[in-house]
Amino acid sequence: MTYETETSETLEEKIAYHVKEILKLLGEDVEREGLRETPKRVASALLEMTSALRTRMPYVKVFKVSEDGVVRDPNQIVLVRNVSFTTLCEHHFLPVIGKMHVAYVVGDEGKVAGFSKIIRLVNYFASKPQLQERLVSEVADALMNSDVKPKGVLVVSNAIHMCTYVRGVKDKEATLMSIATRGVFVKDNRLKSYVLRMLTMESKKELI
Ligand SMILES: [Zn+2]
Repeated sequence: MTYETETSETLEEKIAYHVKEILKLLGEDVEREGLRETPKRVASALLEMTSALRTRMPYVKVFKVSEDGVVRDPNQIVLVRNVSFTTLCEHHFLPVIGKMHVAYVVGDEGKVAGFSKIIRLVNYFASKPQLQERLVSEVADALMNSDVKPKGVLVVSNAIHMCTYVRGVKDKEATLMSIATRGVFVKDNRLKSYVLRMLTMESKKELI
């Protein structure tokens, strides 16, 4: 079944109907004041958190490091740190909240990605039911295959999973880290360690 031809309003109404049914099954009085608009709100939130299922990946705009085309810093490393992300765990549909760091080695054409584009990529792949391990892989592949043409990509994420925080084992301390590597980062452990060490450098708060 495809919803592509439907307006987002009817899709929201359809989801809201089913949310209302779930609330009834849970034993709630769906007509009481506080819950009257809840199915619509839940539907709207679900649509927002799964928007990547119905939209295209954002284009990664590139810039040239040198204007005369001569690459003066071969193997320059770019590291975008502390990108906040929220995704839905595909097993429980509960939030996963974390930070992601995206590093790449500039390719032979000396092209770099727009700063905000990296953040948009992370947000895009987080906007659907996910596994954290797949999320870092998708971000790494998207950047590796983009017009940036980097020599390698390394993506690190660290996150809290609400499905283990508020239910089940209810662990309040455990976080999950996942790392994806592409290109030169796959075999060059020295380079990988170097970038992982850079992650511990001062944070934005100490810069401004
Ligand atoms: Zn889960």
